[in-house]
Amino acid sequence: MAFRIAQALSSIGKLALATAIGASLIAGDVAAQQKQPSPGSAKAIFGGVQLPTQGAPQPFGFYAKGCMAGAEALPTDGPNWQAMRLSRNRRWGNPAMLSTIEQLSRDAAKYDGWPGLLVGDIAQPRGGPMITGHASHQIGLDADIWLTPMPNFRMTAEQREALPFTTMLQKNAFLTINPNVWTPAHARLLMRAASYPQVERIFVNPAIKKKMCDTWTGDRTNLGKLRPEYGHDSHFHIRIKCPPGAANCKPQAPVVAGDGCDKSLAWWFSPAPWAKPKPPKPDAKPVKPREVMVSDLPKACQAVLDAPAVSSVRAATYGGPSAAEVLRAQPIDAPPAANDDELPDLGPVPDDKPAAQ
Ligand SMILES: [Zn+2]
Repeated sequence: MAFRIAQALSSIGKLALATAIGASLIAGDVAAQQKQPSPGSAKAIFGGVQLPTQGAPQPFGFYAKGCMAGAEALPTDGPNWQAMRLSRNRRWGNPAMLSTIEQLSRDAAKYDGWPGLLVGDIAQPRGGPMITGHASHQIGLDADIWLTPMPNFRMTAEQREALPFTTMLQKNAFLTINPNVWTPAHARLLMRAASYPQVERIFVNPAIKKKMCDTWTGDRTNLGKLRPEYGHDSHFHIRIKCPPGAANCKPQAPVVAGDGCDKSLAWWFSPAPWAKPKPPKPDAKPVKPREVMVSDLPKACQAVLDAPAVSSVRAATYGGPSAAEVLRAQPIDAPPAANDDELPDLGPVPDDKPAAQ
């Protein structure tokens, strides 16, 4: 493992480069997204909640504008996964999301030569907007999975905070996969996730999508679920459909038919996505984007905030630690991570971006 960690540490520079691609635009966006929210904003309020509500699991609203009741925690450890960055307290999700992670971790280990998943952010205890890192992940139906395989030992909480991300991109090259880190097992893992009917979208870096388009020789039926997006070069993002019966969950249109290896992908390799925004006209009033307030979310989200918290986490059903252990591993006064090193899920979206994501 020392080797793996050393390898990971050596990748810090690569990550820096990945972030530097489209540098000013993306860096500016990250800075804007990570500015301290004001105390009354939805980000600050949902980000300050430590435990989920009692009651049945229910998503309210849309992936990028909503909240959830009755969330469950992914156990910190399962037979084929380890949850990362525990201090963030973002291991909460709809049971349908948690069971999808469990299913993928098991299948990937059994069939795809992928020893286990390192699980990143799912959602906050009651969902809602996050102070750092994501535009979506608000209703418990999104999850980030690292593109780094699980090591063959259980990491300590400190190691889970410190292990750096490893980008799949090559240094000093535009949107090019690094052949020294990308493996056929990465491709199999992505297509395994895409094969599940409940999985509607998987966000990956455009370079990863292109690699898949160029090299995947198996069944391409589900390749269209892989959607190119900014960032997503060291993790991929799984989005599942609204679960059956989730009446207050706003569905997203399914991806268009086809493998997506078309002009919607070619666009990412044009200058458009990386162009600097036009400077405002000299006489234009500066527009300060308004913060999202709880009242901007579905009405039910205020009730979700007001609802009583669970007194203990629902029993883990995935062979992980007991509910009490989950709570112990996650003290409610845990300090926030010192650095938010997660790339944003969604970067700026220029007007001419083809095809809905
Ligand atoms: Zn994500």
